[in-house]
Amino acid sequence: MKDESDSDEEHVEFPCAHCGESRIDLLEWEDEETVRCRSCDRRYRPR
Ligand SMILES: [Zn+2]
Repeated sequence: MKDESDSDEEHVEFPCAHCGESRIDLLEWEDEETVRCRSCDRRYRPR
């Protein structure tokens, strides 16, 4: 038995710094250090 209710969505370890989006489908790596959030259309650095 699994405890995950929404197992069809993958989440990242570095949610968006602006809106908190963590679904992997909405976050894209722009380069090695920058992630673009498609939820709020802003960029951030996970670390
Ligand atoms: Zn965002």
